[in-house]
Amino acid sequence: MVKLLGPAEVRALAARLDLTPTKKLGQNFVIDGNTVRRIVAAAGVTAGERVMEIGPGLGSLTLGLIEAGASVTAVEIDRRLAELLPETLAAMGAPAGSYDVVRADAMEVMPDPLRLTALAQGGEVDDPSALVANLPYNVSVPVLLHVLEHFPTIRRGLVMVQAEVGQRLAAAPGSKIYGSPSAKAAWYAEVRLAGQIGRQVFWPAPNVDSILVRLDRRAEPGDERDRRETFAIVDAAFGQRRKMLRQSLVPVLGAGASAIIERAGVDPTARGEVLTILDFLRIALAARSA
Ligand code: SAM
Repeated sequence: MVKLLGPAEVRALAARLDLTPTKKLGQNFVIDGNTVRRIVAAAGVTAGERVMEIGPGLGSLTLGLIEAGASVTAVEIDRRLAELLPETLAAMGAPAGSYDVVRADAMEVMPDPLRLTALAQGGEVDDPSALVANLPYNVSVPVLLHVLEHFPTIRRGLVMVQAEVGQRLAAAPGSKIYGSPSAKAAWYAEVRLAGQIGRQVFWPAPNVDSILVRLDRRAEPGDERDRRETFAIVDAAFGQRRKMLRQSLVPVLGAGASAIIERAGVDPTARGEVLTILDFLRIALAARSA
């Protein structure tokens, strides 16, 4: 029987490490078992599945995933937290072999070192099929895009992020909050909001609201070269989002920007905020044949 962490356990573990949670690393730990179970249920985790968790912290969500029968590959940047975690998981009843803990920066982690760590720790060397994480808030978008780019076996994700960031990720073209994160996430997945989370389920309580975001991978609309060129155009369009595309895209497309955009079937006087990711891709392809 796996037991989840409550407020008393979280505080005791933090006291053991003499840990002062840092804002820099987005360290807000979940202290509420119901919230953990809600995240695991929204992720649709099934028994026997391998899940990647970014930023396991003291292990609140890791234990919920293991309770649901998943094996977890947990990637934590903070050395003290990464070192303590296996001991905590074992003490709370997690079966041996149901977790690998990797100390790494999630913005740099790649599949091969993860497999090697799993081998070294006596775990299974299967690749993760889901990402479930309470992401560090200041780096949640780059971490998410890095994982989607480099871990193609991950077919779906359920991440908790700052509410404003989640709304941006899930925004559709035409909305004021649609931007580079929304367009880039749409390259890889369908993104939708999956519920609000109150501040009191964390220790320490953050001063922003949180939200759950569900991602379901879809076939990418192009290859790696297409993606890189499309993302460069997305960055240019939203770097100067108030400007018309025929102006904002000059730094990437040159003086012929307007003609290229038109050839892609897109209005050069439009702004980036109305374009779908497929529109951006069409511009990238038109630029190549210019
Ligand atoms: N999953 C835990 C929970 O729900 O209680 C902790 C979540 S806390 C919001 C974010 C965690 O991510 C912290 O443990 C922090 O140390 C870790 N973290 C921050 N930046 C990271 C990075 N670049 N790579 C991996 N972990 C990171």
